[in-house]
Amino acid sequence: MSQLQVRHDWNRDEIEALFSLPMNDLLFQAQSLHRQVYDPNEVQISRLLSIKTGACPEDCKYCPQSARYDTGLEKERLLEIEKVLTEARSAKAAGASRFCMGAAWRNPHERDMPYLTDMVKEVKSMGMETCMTLGMLSEDQASQLADAGLDYYNHNLDTSPEYYGDVITTRTYQNRLDTLSHVRGAGMKVCSGGIVGMGEQASDRAGLLQQLANMEKHPDSVPINMLVKVAGTPFEKLDELDPFEFVRTIAVARIMMPYSRVRLSAGREEMTDELQAMCFFAGANSIFYGCKLLTTPNPEENSDMSLFRRLGLHPEQGKVATPEEDEQLMQKAAAKKDKASAQFFDAGAL
Ligand code: SF4
Repeated sequence: MSQLQVRHDWNRDEIEALFSLPMNDLLFQAQSLHRQVYDPNEVQISRLLSIKTGACPEDCKYCPQSARYDTGLEKERLLEIEKVLTEARSAKAAGASRFCMGAAWRNPHERDMPYLTDMVKEVKSMGMETCMTLGMLSEDQASQLADAGLDYYNHNLDTSPEYYGDVITTRTYQNRLDTLSHVRGAGMKVCSGGIVGMGEQASDRAGLLQQLANMEKHPDSVPINMLVKVAGTPFEKLDELDPFEFVRTIAVARIMMPYSRVRLSAGREEMTDELQAMCFFAGANSIFYGCKLLTTPNPEENSDMSLFRRLGLHPEQGKVATPEEDEQLMQKAAAKKDKASAQFFDAGAL
């Protein structure tokens, strides 16, 4: 891996200039950097499981899990550890190297901490990387999770500081930065990104990336989500974002944070194969994989694997399953009758 200059002093004009490049120039620059750091045909795969769904007190306008919006979402209590472990095992068998557990909370309660730390220990003992997204964390909670062995903590900035108030009012941008600093302070890796297509301006997409790239250390993973417009949420009827703006956001993130994993997250279900291929070329090298992401649909596992095969991509650890192996996996998944254990939910809601 060659050493590239890693900057933390980006100004808005420079970032907007990158966004304004002709697409071919932008993609060439992003791909050239990408292949200096990463195997350009390797994609890291994470699996995301909702361990507690819905009834969240926060008001994030894109989120079907907020108790404030009537989205018809079935609420679920915190899953039992055994169910979580069953899902982790099947994720590992399907090629996932990281298992992410998400709970729709403003923040975890103290009473839940022993349960959460046990969950981390058990999943880690299977040989997978662990990630959690549980809302805001205090310094002490971050330390408890780090001591249990949690590798990553996801907490997105969502958008630029200027547009943030149009999206969420129940927690501040500074609250988010504080949680990220507790996560870093406790020694865990940071997963933080945002959502595009929420009615923001191009300058807000630049502003989001500026916040992420000007952190003392770049987030290790940067999920870039395309808004999934869920009926019943305030953002249900927003205009579609030009998909090329999404590709540009991926490419600029890759250029500004060359060592971070840039993750294609929510919204993949609505993307064509061609658009996803462009995102991989722009420098995305991580995806969520599974039947459902939190509460919104995610491409079926075998369609992901078929796309990998067609593009000659391979998962970070392991190989792309053959069509026969895919078939076996799909049969196993279909045989599972336990609805609760199949509840994956949407990264855009993180
Ligand atoms: S994004 Fe997270 S914090 Fe916001 S409403 Fe949804 S679950 Fe709650």
